[in-house]
Amino acid sequence: MNEYVKIAMATRNKVSRVTLEQQKQILKLYNDVIKELSHKAAESGDKSLTQRWTLDYINQLKAVKKDLRREINKQIRESIKQGAKIGTETEQLIFKEIFRMANIDPGEHFTEMFSQVQDKVVKDIISGNLYKDNKTLSIRIWSYGEDFEKDIQYTVNQAIIEKKSASELANDLEKFVREPAKRGTDWGLCYPSLKNKKVDYNAMRLARTSINHAYQNSSIQSSNMNPFVEGIKWHSAMVHGRTCELCIERATEDKYGLGPGIFPKNDVPLDHANGLCTMIPYISRSLIEVADELRDWIDGSNNSRLDEWYNEYGDYFAYKKI
Ligand SMILES: [Zn+2]
Repeated sequence: MNEYVKIAMATRNKVSRVTLEQQKQILKLYNDVIKELSHKAAESGDKSLTQRWTLDYINQLKAVKKDLRREINKQIRESIKQGAKIGTETEQLIFKEIFRMANIDPGEHFTEMFSQVQDKVVKDIISGNLYKDNKTLSIRIWSYGEDFEKDIQYTVNQAIIEKKSASELANDLEKFVREPAKRGTDWGLCYPSLKNKKVDYNAMRLARTSINHAYQNSSIQSSNMNPFVEGIKWHSAMVHGRTCELCIERATEDKYGLGPGIFPKNDVPLDHANGLCTMIPYISRSLIEVADELRDWIDGSNNSRLDEWYNEYGDYFAYKKI
């Protein structure tokens, strides 16, 4: 494993931790809102459910749905920011190593160019700019709130048909947040439409996918600012039966003649939903060779590539080329 791969994989692990943490939070969120609804039902005790009873309950449900939406929105936005920030760290670390070896102090200002990348990536995802359907993050989440409301309404209606009491409904609601296999057979019999439905599936998937896109896009865009990066290597875990055909193809084919799995840095495809691939900056030379080139250029040798790079990004660096 070369130096760049090591850095990129460490950054990838950080994103996985953020994703895992986010998944726990979303599960907790659904748990909390269902608990709230379940408690509300339990208050009516052994009374059997009536259509009249549901009128008041639906108001409660609508309020809960709003809270759910707002919280999911807040949490996913926060995780997208973290994903984008971590995505820039790969190039920041590679740059720092190159500067260190070339004996150059780029100054603190240089991290600013990465925070700009980060902000843009976050904005593109939240505004839907990154996607063909242009759907904003809020619109995507909006439909999850509608789904949730519909599912709970369905549960209440079925409970009425089955002549259940309010406290029985309360118990059933608490089962809905569990894994389908752990709800007991009665649950599936009473609520067949929700038998295999995971209450948080879509929110979980959106979170995973958005964090991943934030991370991947900000690493790719940061790599575009590194003049030594020749392409982006699409790295897949290659787990038999788990890595999909598309990702295996992307990771192994030499589509551009740059090497297996290497894409031009301005033409890297977007990963699919639930994707887990790593974007590794591809630099064919070692850190020392790259640092030498930079040092030589600073010391006055001709280098049109670095001149061009300096014209574009030089403002972010403290040192001045004379
Ligand atoms: Zn895949």
